[in-house]
Amino acid sequence: MTLYQTYFREKILPRVQKPARYLGNEINAVSKRHEECSMKVVLAFPDLYEIGMSHLGLKILYHIINAVPRWAAERVFMPGSDLAEILRAEDFPLCSLETVTPLGQFDIVGFTLQYELSYTTVLHMLALADIPLLAAERGEKEPLVVAGGPGAFNPEPLAPFFDFVLLGDAEEALPEVLRLLEANGDLPRRRRLELLAGVRGVYVPAFYREERDESGVYLGTKPVNPQFPPTVKRAVVADLDKAPYPTAFIVPYSDIVHDRMVLELFRGCTRGCRFCQAGVIYRPVRERKKETLLALARNMVRNTGYEEMALSSLSTGDYSAVTELVNELGVELAKEGVSLSLPSLRLDSFSGELAREVQRLRKSGLTFAPEAGTQRLRDVINKNITEEDLLVAVKEAFAAGWTSVKLYFMLGLPTETDEDLHGIADLAKRVLQAFKEAGGQGRPRVTVSVSVFVPKAHTPFQWHGQLPKAGILRRQQLLRQALRLPGVHFQWHGAETSLLEAAIARGGRELVPVLMRAAELGCRLDSWDEYFRFDLWQQAFAENGLDLAACAEKSFAEADPLPWDHLDSGVSKRYLLREYRRALRGETTADCREGCLGCGMALLLAEEDDKGVCTGANLD
Ligand code: SF4
Repeated sequence: MTLYQTYFREKILPRVQKPARYLGNEINAVSKRHEECSMKVVLAFPDLYEIGMSHLGLKILYHIINAVPRWAAERVFMPGSDLAEILRAEDFPLCSLETVTPLGQFDIVGFTLQYELSYTTVLHMLALADIPLLAAERGEKEPLVVAGGPGAFNPEPLAPFFDFVLLGDAEEALPEVLRLLEANGDLPRRRRLELLAGVRGVYVPAFYREERDESGVYLGTKPVNPQFPPTVKRAVVADLDKAPYPTAFIVPYSDIVHDRMVLELFRGCTRGCRFCQAGVIYRPVRERKKETLLALARNMVRNTGYEEMALSSLSTGDYSAVTELVNELGVELAKEGVSLSLPSLRLDSFSGELAREVQRLRKSGLTFAPEAGTQRLRDVINKNITEEDLLVAVKEAFAAGWTSVKLYFMLGLPTETDEDLHGIADLAKRVLQAFKEAGGQGRPRVTVSVSVFVPKAHTPFQWHGQLPKAGILRRQQLLRQALRLPGVHFQWHGAETSLLEAAIARGGRELVPVLMRAAELGCRLDSWDEYFRFDLWQQAFAENGLDLAACAEKSFAEADPLPWDHLDSGVSKRYLLREYRRALRGETTADCREGCLGCGMALLLAEEDDKGVCTGANLD
């Protein structure tokens, strides 16, 4: 045992709550002798164990890296406040779970950026690990700190904290990065970063600088010299069916948010909802074959002993062989006492047959996402579902024995009126009526969950500012009144967390000192109510001459350079603008599986010779 291991396990662990978070020897955890490894990577999730352990991306990377005998991947999550206090007080560095190795002793510290409210936690984890926050201040021997995940598509508020950023699918790009670093480990840090900048999907923020005119107006982010490309293109795994996928999920000792097996059916979605960033950055649709999925599922059951398996994707009902897969898988898993759950089902891909099949296995909660209360607004956001779709789906579900349904909506959408909000209440009433018409037994329960629309980078709504706080609160009050209905339960999201999310989601490097100051003031784990301090955030913005609300509400003109223009998702800015204009005219756009719409993805794939992944028949 190393000194760190001994001290941590004997002197620190006995003093913290939930020690099971920090044991690192759960079933299927992989622990290697570092002296036998050429590359050591610690996968860092900037939130608590219970959240991070549910993240599929982390499981995929853990599997890919550890599948190579000479490479080691370990995990680290944000410690609970009690352990963080002890680490600071005793000047003990934050360590990985598996071998209790200080993060500073790894070759790479890899953060996933899943939501903006986790960004200050990244800074806290670096500070607890005693790794300089700024990449420019890290020494030759210190790890390279990398970011990935959806936040990588606008990492600018965090740019100087990362040595490099990986855009897109990591299954092929990350091993390429590790092989390159393995082969060039003795080169100076800057030279290694220059080589990495040549890998598809790798963005080195230090090699790009913001340009502003004499009055400080942002003109764009440009490479510091022509050696680096003006735009960094996303890495895409063309054939997901051949991509490595984990089947030996780590089985935690303590409860986590999603404590089950997860089978990713396909990646991408081309339904084209205009608020949805995932629908852009994970394009195009790439499916795993049914046979591949059945084989993966069998191995997962064998390796984990879990009793539930979730079929995961952005829109599971859109999987081309969904009913056959659920039937076959359902039968096989039932023999093992394993149930299936289908987390994300679109209304128009929900069927009675599917409902009964899932119902036969296990009665799980049913959620649908109409997103908007009227057809007019659903057309604006291009949700492409009708009230009829909703009523048919819930009637099928009620007839199949469900008594409760959860409906997701957003408020503050572009062009939204009070009539649209009253439309949400009308829909809830019609769903209750549908329960009666379907001969539902017992008391129906309709949960209406309304989040606040947050405009995101790389979406058609990236130009559109967020609704001011007063407007959010007024509309939430309107809904509270309108949804005072028996059998209806109203849930809403905090206006302040949504404002902060919006301010960061479309911010640039002007937010770097704001995040540093917020972290200094103690902001961390901002997605947890008990930790979130809006006042400290407002202070951090104000001390840097910025207004949080103004940052969230700002709209961009169509011709404005955007802080993420130098990061290419594959979908062209021109296509997104066309979709934005169609939204404001209330025009819908079909799913491109019905015919290519020229979003630009095919061009990006063609450069990598990945023709045929999407039709791309009508290149923009
Ligand atoms: S290039 Fe065409 S087919 Fe491919 S994702 Fe874009 S719109 Fe769809």
